[in-house]
Amino acid sequence: MSNNFSNYKFGTKAIHAGADPDPSTGAIMTPIFQTSTYTQESPGKNKGYSYARGKNPTRDALQKNIAALENGKHCLCFSSGMGSIDAIIKMLRPGDEVITGDDLYGGSYRMFTKVFANFGIKFHFINMTTASNIEKHINSNTKLIWVETPTNPTMQIMDIEACAKIAKKHKLILAVDNTFASPYLQNPLALGADIVMHSVTKYLGGHSDVVMGALVVNDNTIYEQLAFIHNSCGATPGPMDCFLVMRGIKTLHLRMERHCFNGRQVAEYLKTHPKIEKVYWPGFTDHPNHDIAKKQMRDFGGMISFVLKEKSIENTFKLASSFKVFSLAESLGGVESLINHPATMTHASIPKAERDKAGVTDNLLRLSVGVEDIEDILEDLKQALA
Ligand SMILES: *Cc1c(COP(=O)(O)O)cnc(C)c1O
Repeated sequence: MSNNFSNYKFGTKAIHAGADPDPSTGAIMTPIFQTSTYTQESPGKNKGYSYARGKNPTRDALQKNIAALENGKHCLCFSSGMGSIDAIIKMLRPGDEVITGDDLYGGSYRMFTKVFANFGIKFHFINMTTASNIEKHINSNTKLIWVETPTNPTMQIMDIEACAKIAKKHKLILAVDNTFASPYLQNPLALGADIVMHSVTKYLGGHSDVVMGALVVNDNTIYEQLAFIHNSCGATPGPMDCFLVMRGIKTLHLRMERHCFNGRQVAEYLKTHPKIEKVYWPGFTDHPNHDIAKKQMRDFGGMISFVLKEKSIENTFKLASSFKVFSLAESLGGVESLINHPATMTHASIPKAERDKAGVTDNLLRLSVGVEDIEDILEDLKQALA
């Protein structure tokens, strides 16, 4: 009995969508099909699988699951989040132009400026917090709008629905990097986006043990193009990683509830702390796009950045190394709390002048608030900031 669970609520989909019992044994958990190839009865006559770069049953199950979480028709999983962004940009041709934000994940910025710019694709990095600003940069070569919201690390919020209206009007593709929100907090396809991208490495995987990416789309033509690139270029994930992510996703809704609960407590604690200049978190009513965040997100998540009053990088480094519950590390979205220094870690590939302009200063720190007990998290912040 197959059921795509499309009419069920989020937590039920997280646990069941795509995870049909294995038909050969009844195993309730999808097996790890650790195989590169599949036997054929006669050339071309097979059971729907011929070579594992193209298709693997463990990956199929995960793709169905993530598609269900984003209320999308198709999902493709990649060997990293960057691999999935790479596939989107490969739909373009030399001379095409992309409009994107001025506060992006460092790796996206690096790939756009250092890899794809060399192939003749032009990127405009603009302030997108007011969607109408996008229209000023559209010309006859524009093909794609790339939106990240909330942004990494300054938690800017873009109005996805307003971006989608502009994309539709000018016949552009709108792709949204939904990594920070996860499908639990935000579903861009429902707001009019054409492609949703996830670094599955983060909240979807949720346990800091897998690197993976995913794209979800409704449009069959876009899907065919992406699936062709996926198989042709080959950034596909292995079955063991797919299994681990499926296991992680079964608790996505529970984890996200706790990330949001803990995130709120931490944001409010930091906001009144005498050593802190500014806290970036979309749940604050004085966040410039709080109303948009409220409209398009279910809650505000566990990602928070803050700026210290004391500006020196030495002081910031000292603080970053003085936590006991928070680990100093890149990445985010796992069950454990992490602290990161964007200027020298995740965003080091962005030139300092650009970083400073985007607010990614030397005295900015980013937290991925985990799902530990909130009392221990707050105590850790208190001792580190003492
Ligand atoms: C981590 C991240 C990526 C890249 O994903 P990888 O899985 O590390 O390749 C892209 N966008 C955002 C917002 C991220 O946080």
